[in-house]
Amino acid sequence: MESMENILKDRYRHPTAWDQTFPPMSMADMVESSAGAHPAAAMIDFMGRRFTYGDMLGQIHRVAAGLQAMGVKKGDRVGLYLPNTPHYVAAYYGALMAGAIVVNFSPLYTAAELEHQVEDSGTTILFTLSAKALLPTALDVLEHSSLEKLVVGSVAEALPPVKSFLFRMFKASETAPIPDDPRIRRYDRLIDNAGEYVAPSIDPVHDIALLQYTGGTTGTPKGAMLTHQNLTANARQVQMIDPHKHEPDRIIAVLPFFHVFANTCTLNRTVLNGGEMVMLPRFDAAQVLAAVQRVKATSLPGVPTMFQALLDHPSIRNVDFSSLRACISGGAPLPLELRQRFEAATGATLIEGYGLTETSPVVCSNPYEGLNKTGTVGQPVPGTHVRLVDREDPTRPPPPGEPGELLFAGPQIMKGYWNRPDADAQVFVGDYVRTGDVGVIDEDGYVKIVDRLKDMIAVGGFKVFPSQVESVLYHHPAVKEALVIGVPDHYRGEQPKAFVTLNEGQEATGEELKTWLNAQLGKHERVCAVELRDSLPKTLVGKLSRKELVAEEREKAQKA
Ligand code: AMP
Repeated sequence: MESMENILKDRYRHPTAWDQTFPPMSMADMVESSAGAHPAAAMIDFMGRRFTYGDMLGQIHRVAAGLQAMGVKKGDRVGLYLPNTPHYVAAYYGALMAGAIVVNFSPLYTAAELEHQVEDSGTTILFTLSAKALLPTALDVLEHSSLEKLVVGSVAEALPPVKSFLFRMFKASETAPIPDDPRIRRYDRLIDNAGEYVAPSIDPVHDIALLQYTGGTTGTPKGAMLTHQNLTANARQVQMIDPHKHEPDRIIAVLPFFHVFANTCTLNRTVLNGGEMVMLPRFDAAQVLAAVQRVKATSLPGVPTMFQALLDHPSIRNVDFSSLRACISGGAPLPLELRQRFEAATGATLIEGYGLTETSPVVCSNPYEGLNKTGTVGQPVPGTHVRLVDREDPTRPPPPGEPGELLFAGPQIMKGYWNRPDADAQVFVGDYVRTGDVGVIDEDGYVKIVDRLKDMIAVGGFKVFPSQVESVLYHHPAVKEALVIGVPDHYRGEQPKAFVTLNEGQEATGEELKTWLNAQLGKHERVCAVELRDSLPKTLVGKLSRKELVAEEREKAQKA
């Protein structure tokens, strides 16, 4: 394996073919040129209020000016702990225009998760809302970490408690008071300026725009460094395969912006296209269906569980889907039956793509028109190179005719992991990044994912790492050994299941352990069962091994 230094030299020394197809572009250039070309296009919040690109650009400039007045300099880390509201859009592009690196935080994070990511990334300023679901956690982290300041938008301003055409996200009782504290800046004060900021000089190929946290192939959370060019190139790559790219989209933004799938395929892609976007702060099947109908949506990106929930909703029969050009599924495998049933019920095309945080994220997609091959994730998007390598040794090809680990190269491949040269050395093979996914490439160049080398469990679009759930189980006094694997689930694709052995003399039922465990886990990590065993499978060197349990459960599911 090459050293990190050589890899970086190799990756950045020469102009590559993709530099010519996707000339380097900063995020600021993308936003400014789109707002200049489409000043009247609008982003629509869940209240139905329209913010034209012209309005948004003004607000973005005022965020940039406000952040610089707070002392933000190029390369400082500014965090976003926000749902899909106009605040997110203005804070995201405003922080980038001020020269900062944006760090995305899931609004579902607990204080411990938030704190870990704040410390690891060196985030000094965090944007949030005065919602009970967010502010108390952000305040806790402000007290107990090196976070220096909070910028707090008012829920009442972002989401006034009047009846909206969509729904009320936060009721008055769900708002939290904003304390009077010099470390806390109200959002409306931050943007109370003339929008005069000093545009930093940005090198799109080298300068980091986004730190996007991921478990990668090992499960230890680390920040993928996505450059300005990574993000703008991926939006252009996704746009290039859309035969209707010159017609403005009307897109439903319900996937959370903090996730890189939505960040590229919803937010950046809409801005690049000059399209309209309806922002929904959380998933509710009825509201998504109402929004599709109301704005005559042309595009709906989502994860398989979302399409399943829409399909299961009774009002799906009353919605006119004829405006939809495509629904795009990613983040987890799209079951064949789901695609067929969804297309039959709506008449819309459901196309599957594939990617990962480290690749900004899209590397493959089925086409909008033409051969949409079920069971595959389509072909590499323009400018993307795929390689299949031996599962054990990524420098060798796999045995002829056998699946191998998928590696990708292209302008969307991350610069590396934040402060983790050790992890970089494992994930890069020259220009190529390892995926931890095992696949085959068919005669038409379509990629099919057949297995996963990494121990990740894909619960809908969310990723759960077994080691994190196991480490919680080990805190129970009765638990001697624990293994967690993903088992098939009709609705979510996979769900975690735990297997444990008990310490001698200890008694506990699987049900008791499940209740105890799930009380301490986030919504997506919760296990469907805890199964007690006399022993757990081990490798020859005595390490606990999940492989046998995965095979056992797969066999059980096939027989069922
Ligand atoms: P993340 O970095 O959290 O977005 O997770 C990326 C991982 O999600 C990939 O490495 C795959 O294991 C999985 N994934 C994403 N899209 C698909 C898909 N269409 N089919 C199968 N697995 C997928």
